[in-house]
Amino acid sequence: MTMSESQVHVVDHPLVATGLSILRATTTPPDSFRRHLHDISVLLFAEASRQWETKRIEVETPLAACAGAVLARPIVLVPILRAGLGMLDGITRVAPEAAIGHIGLYRDAETLRPVSYYDRVPVNAAAAEVLLLDPMLATGNSACEAASILKAQGAKRIQFLCIVACPPGVEQFHREHADIPIYTAALDPELNDHGYIVPGLGDAGDRYFGTG
Ligand code: URA
Repeated sequence: MTMSESQVHVVDHPLVATGLSILRATTTPPDSFRRHLHDISVLLFAEASRQWETKRIEVETPLAACAGAVLARPIVLVPILRAGLGMLDGITRVAPEAAIGHIGLYRDAETLRPVSYYDRVPVNAAAAEVLLLDPMLATGNSACEAASILKAQGAKRIQFLCIVACPPGVEQFHREHADIPIYTAALDPELNDHGYIVPGLGDAGDRYFGTG
């Protein structure tokens, strides 16, 4: 297993597999696409948070005191605009206490490199479990730039969550950010000449927002 492979977690779960099939189907309308994107994001979040540290607390039930747990660190969610917003709703349902940052990137027409037009990262990022969200890890360029922005603002414990990744994106991401694990619902075989993952699910932002 290479370093890159060891840092890629393809979440193997029947609900992820069935939900992803609905996302992939070209006939799936935006309402169903949204619901299943939310649900898969929650399942990825559950997997990514599996090893997070907790602190022991004492809880009083109506009958007795017992041991309980709270997370040791705050949660920061950072969607990459625009499609990353689609992963936010489900996760905030199960982690409503999370702080939310945003990173907006566009592709420079000459250099083809991503350029940040907006970033606002919560001030507690350095002490937090930070989840970078973008449904498609395609070329890896946006994810790399977003991760660099997070690190420059002090984030230390970063995980990247996506719905579909592909080998060129994973390799690019781990060339620059080998310390950041990737959680994905699928690792698809390739990227086409237009930068779309094949078979993928098409343009995630257009399908989520109904703009396609
Ligand atoms: N962005 C998308 O929305 N889909 C892809 O396949 C690649 C990038």
